[in-house]
Amino acid sequence: MTPLEDAQTLVLEACPPLAPVEMPLDQARGLVLAADVVAGEQVPPFVNTAVDGYAVRAADVADAPVELAVVGEVAAGASTDRVVGPGETIRIMTGAPMPAGADAVVMVEDSELLAPDRVRLARAVQPGASVRAAGDDIQAGDLLFTAGTEVRPAVAAVLASVNARTVTVHPRATVAVLSTGDELVDDGSPLEPGQIRESNRTMLAGLLAEAGCDVIDLGTVRDDEAELERVLRVAAGTCDAIVSSGGVSMGDYDVVKAVLGRIAAMTWLQIAIKPAKPFAFGMLAGTPVFGLPGNPVSSLVSFELITRPALRRMMGHRRLARPSLVAVSDDGIQRRPDGKVHLVRVNTAFGDDGRFRVTPVGAQGSHQLAATALADAIAIVPDGDGIPPGGDVAVLMLVG
Ligand code: AMP
Ligand code: MG
Repeated sequence: MTPLEDAQTLVLEACPPLAPVEMPLDQARGLVLAADVVAGEQVPPFVNTAVDGYAVRAADVADAPVELAVVGEVAAGASTDRVVGPGETIRIMTGAPMPAGADAVVMVEDSELLAPDRVRLARAVQPGASVRAAGDDIQAGDLLFTAGTEVRPAVAAVLASVNARTVTVHPRATVAVLSTGDELVDDGSPLEPGQIRESNRTMLAGLLAEAGCDVIDLGTVRDDEAELERVLRVAAGTCDAIVSSGGVSMGDYDVVKAVLGRIAAMTWLQIAIKPAKPFAFGMLAGTPVFGLPGNPVSSLVSFELITRPALRRMMGHRRLARPSLVAVSDDGIQRRPDGKVHLVRVNTAFGDDGRFRVTPVGAQGSHQLAATALADAIAIVPDGDGIPPGGDVAVLMLVG
């Protein structure tokens, strides 16, 4: 059996980041910058007010309350040539440029309009009060973001603020997904003896989309070598990666194994984990192929632990794994030594002591997806006698 870390390394090394592309900022959300970004403009672009109020000469309000002559008004998006002289003020709205002559703003809350052209200001302010300097946030020429930064919404907003209308990013991976098996029915027709509903593709398509990939659904392929070879070759020619489920274990009709063994450079792994021991990985015409086991829980687990990190690497991400943390298992997690790391699906919650608690979901069989579907994390239970009651266990979070 191959240790999980070795399997992950083998796969990751074969999945380098996709070549960078230039794309409009509004299409780059969730993608990863492939080049550093230097600010071409300063933000804010001009000196402006942080509050609604009255632009004043601070010296004029030192003895507040005082009365000043209102000589103008400036809204956000407007500007004024009127200079604020001694004894004068200009009414100003948040974000509007500071008029010449003024060096501070008194908040509207501290004012009382006595007449259209006369205001009483109740509070003294220091020079610079409520004034935002040009370039206060970003200076032109600042190194804003380095390559490897994910374009999260706030990052995208910063890029928009300096007029970076296009960005250089690693593209989304286009990933073909297929399921294999003569027993699978996916068209709603009544089940004949021995048939089951196809379900892995629905799950994997969703997981791929969640991981930021563009998904090409190739449907369910019969256990037919010629048909499978044709589908796989088309996928390899058009996609960045292929994810298949089923047919990679030891059964007589494991045609994925037969076909890929013939046309691709494959490594057939027995990973030292439970569930999801069988796993196939290889290259078909330069395209990575992930052969996931057919048991639904195994499919999910090997996607999470091996496939998702590799696809994230292809899309330029630096953090490949899901967030992990250490939690307490109040009741412990029993197991026997068997040479494998057990990946126990659990639910998490904060305890009264502020520590994370885990509770395994009831049904842990690799075919029992209903229980696993609601788990929010995977507890990593090392080989041995398990976690004693009250013991710590490492947990991989599956949801944000
Ligand atoms: P296999 O990996 O092909 O040997 O399949 C292992 C188990 O998973 C069998 O019980 C299959 O019927 C089941 N299985 C395989 N593919 C799927 C699928 N796409 N959806 C649901 N169950 C599947
Ligand atoms: Mg099968």
